Amino acid sequence: MMSLKPEKLQRLVYDILTTRPDEIGCDTCFAQLDLFVEMLQAGKNPAVAMPQVHRHLERCGMCREEFEALLSALEHYSQLH
Ligand SMILES: [Zn+2]
Repeated sequence: MMSLKPEKLQRLVYDILTTRPDEIGCDTCFAQLDLFVEMLQAGKNPAVAMPQVHRHLERCGMCREEFEALLSALEHYSQLH
């Protein structure tokens, strides 16, 4: 008989509860990252306009790193101009 550890079960339930059918993958996230950062810099709220990207960034460390790198690069660029 297969036994499921409580923490594994918890993780499984968490995944089911937090995974939504409208979730995007890294490719889609990367493709929309420019716009997301632009909106942020324009003082808009991209989390509301692009909730899928926002949600992906919360879940995916790789894309979040990319997002932060892009953001700091743009901030650096805008300081020069
Ligand atoms: Zn990702």
